[in-house]
This record gives sequence, structure tokens and C-alpha cells, in this order.
Amino acid sequence: MKKITIAIDGFSSCGKSTMAKALARNIGYLYFDSGAMYRAVALYCMQNGIIANGEIDKEALRQQIDNIKITFCADAETKNSVTYLNGVNVENEIRTLEVSQLVSHVAALDFVRTALIDQQREMGKSKGIVMDGRDIGTTVFPDAELKIFVTASAEVRAKRRYDELIARGSTPDYNDILANVVERDHLDQTREISPLRKADDALLLDNSEMTVEGQLAWLEEQFKLRTAE
Ligand code: C5P
Repeated sequence: MKKITIAIDGFSSCGKSTMAKALARNIGYLYFDSGAMYRAVALYCMQNGIIANGEIDKEALRQQIDNIKITFCADAETKNSVTYLNGVNVENEIRTLEVSQLVSHVAALDFVRTALIDQQREMGKSKGIVMDGRDIGTTVFPDAELKIFVTASAEVRAKRRYDELIARGSTPDYNDILANVVERDHLDQTREISPLRKADDALLLDNSEMTVEGQLAWLEEQFKLRTAE
């Protein structure tokens, strides 16, 4: 069967990665979380003094961007994809609220996007991948054979992120998370470069009222239709 590229874009915390991961596992494709890459750059800034008084030192980041290498590797036990920043496992550190509050500012910088998009295209050059993010169907892989745009209400998404952080052992405040979800939606949709928007040829999926199993069944159906063509 011919291998295709699957782009899953949408708003933050709408369960894109859960369904993208499950789909990739079931159809034997590689999964890439492009949001994790932007998060890793934000974490790098925090760890290397590139943030001062809440401001990103853009020149310092521009000079260091080529030294930031992000890779993914499957966890030996869970088989889940784990994010590495310059060879160090940062999967938990990149999910904190602190990183979430910084990441959309870092992701709005043109040289950051250029560097990460190059890496993403390299990861997808042999097809047979599922990549999720904000601009995968519009900018990274505009020729992807299957594009999905996922959305859900801000409250549903904030509750999902809250539950995820609780499961990771944090004690988050729901209102802080909701404020962050709304702020990131705004920043992602209004930035100049590759703003978040549905590609004209993407299928829209509002999963506010759907179970994970229901979404997966729907996605697998779309995959079958596309690969049978
Ligand atoms: O998907 P996730 O919520 O982890 O992404 C974190 C942030 O990274 C997003 O809010 C967005 O600002 C940025 N991002 C992006 N382009 C992508 C993926 C993520 O700008 N392809």
C-alpha cells in the first residue's frame, strides 16, 4: 500500500497528539509531535539565560538556534515517543505551565520556525508519518494526502490539559490553564508567520463531544479512504 503523509493541526490541548499517536501505532506509521519541538526551544531558552524579565533575547537565540537539536525516540517500556533536547530526555520538563506560557512567543519568531520546519520536512521526507501541530497542513507539508483540523471548546480543552497535568503529578489551577489556552489560541491565530488556520483541503473534526475511541475510528476510516484512492 502506498505511504502517505498525515497532517493533524488544530487548537492547543484538543487531543491531537493522543489521536495522532494512536493512529500512527495502528497503521504502522511514525509519529512526530511538532509542538514538542517548539516547547523544547522554549525550554532551551529558560535553561540558557535567553529569557530576562520575561523577554526573549532574540539575538542570543538566533545565534544559538543551529545548536538546538531535537530528536524523538520511543520509550523502551511504554513505546511512547519521547522528546530529546541535545541528547537529554526533556519529555516532562516541556509540558510544564511555565513552558506553555513561553512557547507561543518563541514559536512566533521567523528564524525559529525556519529551523524547525527544515527539521520537520527532513523527518517526513520518506512519507509514512503522522505529524501534529499548527501549520503542518498549511506550511510544512502542503501536499499531505490527508489533512485534519481539530477543534473543541476552550473549556473542554483546558479541562483535558488540567487532567493531564494532574496525572503527571502537578497541582495546577484550572483558571490559569484556561487563560493560557485562550492566550495561545490568540497568539497562534494572529502571528504573522504561518498562523494557525484550517487548510482549505483539511477535514474539520470538532471533538468536544467525542470519545477517544470514536475519534480514532473516524480517523482510521479517513485513512482507509485516502489510501484506497
Ligand atoms: O501542540 P502544543 O500545544 O504542545 O504546541 C505548543 C505551542 O507550539 C503552540 O501553542 C504553538 O504556539 C506552537 N506550535 C506552532 N507550530 C506547530 C506546533 C506548535 O507554532 N506546528
